[in-house]
Amino acid sequence: MPPVAPSKQYDYLVIGGGSGGLASARRAGSYGFKVGLVESTGRLGGTCVNVGCVPKKVMFNTASQFINNLQYGFDLPSIPNFNWNYLKQKRDAYIKRLNGIYSNNLAKDKVDYIEGKASFVSKNVLKVEHNGSVEEIEAKKILIATGGHPRIPHEIPGAELGITSDGFFDLEEQPKKVMVVGTGYIGVELAGIFNALGSNATLVSRSDEILRTFDPIIKDTILDQSKKEGMRVLTRAHVKSLSRASPSGPIKVEFTSKETNDTSEEFDTLLWAIGREPNVDDLNLDKVGVKLNEKGYIVADEYQNTAVEEIYALGDVCGIAQLTPVAIAAGRRLSDRLFGPSKFKNLKLDYNDIPTVVFHGTCGAVGLTEPEARKKYGDENVKAYSSKFVNMYSAMTEQKPATAYKLIVHGENEKVVGIHLIGRDSAEILQGFSVALKMGATKQDFDNTVAIHPTAAEELVTMR
Ligand code: FAD
Ligand code: NDP
Repeated sequence: MPPVAPSKQYDYLVIGGGSGGLASARRAGSYGFKVGLVESTGRLGGTCVNVGCVPKKVMFNTASQFINNLQYGFDLPSIPNFNWNYLKQKRDAYIKRLNGIYSNNLAKDKVDYIEGKASFVSKNVLKVEHNGSVEEIEAKKILIATGGHPRIPHEIPGAELGITSDGFFDLEEQPKKVMVVGTGYIGVELAGIFNALGSNATLVSRSDEILRTFDPIIKDTILDQSKKEGMRVLTRAHVKSLSRASPSGPIKVEFTSKETNDTSEEFDTLLWAIGREPNVDDLNLDKVGVKLNEKGYIVADEYQNTAVEEIYALGDVCGIAQLTPVAIAAGRRLSDRLFGPSKFKNLKLDYNDIPTVVFHGTCGAVGLTEPEARKKYGDENVKAYSSKFVNMYSAMTEQKPATAYKLIVHGENEKVVGIHLIGRDSAEILQGFSVALKMGATKQDFDNTVAIHPTAAEELVTMR
């Protein structure tokens, strides 16, 4: 049979309508090139908008209301009547509005939105399947921005009875008692939300720590704080099995931990937050020679080139700094480089010193942790300044969560190479201070900046 001629031809075809794919497609479209974007779910925005940053931040904001509005002299009941389902409906409506806005934005930059699941037929041809129909589309250049999905530990009997962060956003009612397994970003954030909203929350760590990759000032303070806020934290813990006697009954979890030894307990919900895996299985990458690393992520160089010429990859599917602004920045720079004016021909994203926050605490960091700095530069060349205090906001409240800041400096001129914050508004504070670190600011530059009073952030320019 003669080969079927592709039904459409593009300069640039993007697989994945999430943070990275949308940003890259729109930037390429804005330069007047013929661009298409393929998305399989029928909802634009990807993980961040639909089951990630955005609905999570709504829940975090809700949890913050619950804690903070209680003690400033308002005569409120000590346990306010919180309606999870009402909030879910409002949150879902907001996300739906965003899906529409993303679709309009694609149209503004003249990007064709193609609904369906894409896979490679050859280096320049994709097959797109949608509702039983199949079409082949040709493109000069193709971007893979297919993101990832939560990992479920299928090796544990009954693991499928648990939900993941995706399922968190489907919950119609608030579980009364919940176990969250995994203590990275997602585990800590979602357990924090459950706990603050009044669920009986147990957070399960396989080590002695939570947020293991963060600076000690963050992980120790957050662990301590979470316990003070009533969260049960199990350490050196392992879930052995899940079972359910009746379809709507509780989940019986068998587990072991330093605090409990071998035991079993019933929970309304168990949530797996043990990391994510790349969406590569459906893409037929073998056919074209795109290489994966040992963890299954796509290997791309600093310019987002894969092993195959004119096939690019970025965002979570590459497994490096899995954050929305990283995917967006990489996507825009790639399109500037490929389709923009010649001044952009060497443009790439600098993956160093990416600021990041965890919406529990709130805590955040940019640059090196103290152990990383000491390892890189030697103990004698590194100094840490730190400060722990109670934010003035909490002067009026019974709960007094710790605020803790740390600056790591290097060398004789005390260049700031790490900033670690925990406490109210840290996410907002960190953004501006990240600019200073990125510009190479020294401790003296911080000290030369007059404080803004009364704030918590002023501590960062007055540390001794
Ligand atoms: P995605 O946004 O996942 O988009 C990939 C898209 O590709 C998806 O829409 C998918 O349906 C589509 N796709 C996959 N395969 C195919 C195919 N074969 N054909 C067509 N389409 C396909 N980051 C932050 O910066 N801040 C936060 O607060 C934050 N919170 C988070 C909270 C949670 C619970 C989670 C899970 C993540 C969070 N993240 C956060 C991470 C952030 O969501 C991701 O880093 C970001 O969405 C990655 O963008 P991406 O474009 O690489 O992939
Ligand atoms: P993380 O990699 O952050 O954390 C995974 C956690 O699961 C770690 O605590 C890890 O333990 C634990 N773990 C791994 N395997 C097992 C296992 N078999 N049994 C028990 N525990 C296990 O992944 P997340 O899923 O939390 O988040 C994925 C990514 O999404 C993040 O890395 C981040 O880039 C992004 N994200 C960003 C957010 C933000 O910007 N605020 C919010 C949410 C997600 P150990 O520490 O011992 O390795």
